[in-house]
Amino acid sequence: MSIDIEKYNSQHKPTWCPGCGNFAISMALKKALSELNIPPSQAFIAFDIGCNGNGADTVATYAFKGLHGRAVALASGAHLANRDFTTIAELGDGACFHEGLDHLINAVRSNYDITILIHNNQNFALTTGQATVETQKGKPMYALPGGKPEKEYNTNELILSLHPTFFAKGYSGDIQELTDIIKRGIKHKGCSVIEISQLCPSYNRECTPQWFTEHIVKISSLKNYSETSFDDAHNLIQKMIKEEKIYTGVIYENKNVKTFYENLPSRKSFTTELSEEVKEYNIKKILETFK
Ligand code: SF4
Repeated sequence: MSIDIEKYNSQHKPTWCPGCGNFAISMALKKALSELNIPPSQAFIAFDIGCNGNGADTVATYAFKGLHGRAVALASGAHLANRDFTTIAELGDGACFHEGLDHLINAVRSNYDITILIHNNQNFALTTGQATVETQKGKPMYALPGGKPEKEYNTNELILSLHPTFFAKGYSGDIQELTDIIKRGIKHKGCSVIEISQLCPSYNRECTPQWFTEHIVKISSLKNYSETSFDDAHNLIQKMIKEEKIYTGVIYENKNVKTFYENLPSRKSFTTELSEEVKEYNIKKILETFK
């Protein structure tokens, strides 16, 4: 029995454009939480600035919308303070690979037990379509009518180079597959990075549902692919670059790496959680010294 999905909805309706992939990503996350029987009162989602960040108003879980690029840092801190919660970070490709890149690198390196959902719509959409690293070189964008001058870098190669313990790719046009990927990411003990190709009909018009249908291949269709082989993951990413395709599914999982908390020497002898050790102190006397 799963929890009624309606329980994850607040009374506010999303304000995304018709056809926006955020609707599907939000639905997939709620479905994943519901099917894993994680009640809204046991989930925390750190949202970023960006179109996806408006999702903070629409969920009945605990949620926080922080500064631009800081969703991963917020999620990492919240997770360490209270590990009883399922902790998710949601942010766009702009926030993740520009302002927040250092947080992504360090969350993966530290292996915090959180799930990071990267909404990749290939632009800063909230600010009406500015170029990100994911925008194709030469594509005219807001404030760049002559086309984006810088080259892109391959974010799949970047993520894999960090040796993540869980790395997957999904697509907002396939809610069922995305739900299954998010469920696996949440269940994984460690930092799960899930990059999601997201439809943005307002500012990434070239990448239509038809375009994605022609470019997406499911990893499950590959013969002899091993999710636990780093070499297979590396070769798959090179294949994506060569074929100009997007492979969706779990690219790599390593269950043999301890999480940051498990590696913390200062917590080794503790059987309690930090949240259970919070004590109340009367600070009235201290405050009086400032008068
Ligand atoms: Fe979605 Fe793009 Fe509209 Fe933002 S601008 S709400 S990402 S379709």
